[in-house]
Amino acid sequence: MKEIEVKTSKHTQMRDITREIQAAVTESGVTEGICMVFVPHTTAAVTINENADPDVVRDFTMEINKIVPWEDGYHHMEGNSAAHLKSSMIGFSEQIIIENGKLVLGVWQGIYFCEYDGPRRRKVYVKIMEG
Ligand code: ZN
Repeated sequence: MKEIEVKTSKHTQMRDITREIQAAVTESGVTEGICMVFVPHTTAAVTINENADPDVVRDFTMEINKIVPWEDGYHHMEGNSAAHLKSSMIGFSEQIIIENGKLVLGVWQGIYFCEYDGPRRRKVYVKIMEG
């Protein structure tokens, strides 16, 4: 398993980590298999979405903040219930096929680390399985 460090700079942020994940695949030497990406945090997530127009992730962030407002009479003492909710809604893992040593993603797809209670120093686990 490989651990990748992700530094976020905003409270809510989607950071494209495709390059870092591809680098882990390349480094592993695996040419055919599955790459599993896992986020070991309760206020962050990982997803795959468009990386061509930056307005897509901008709109994504704007809307998720409307769906789950930061303040809404939550009980959790730490005051970050919205981040916990968004984290579970988006999810903690993605699996991507590896062919010819490359992640098989759609033309417009990128892998995004989703920060919901930043800025923080975060971790992403990458497990590469040959087969
Ligand atoms: Zn909390």
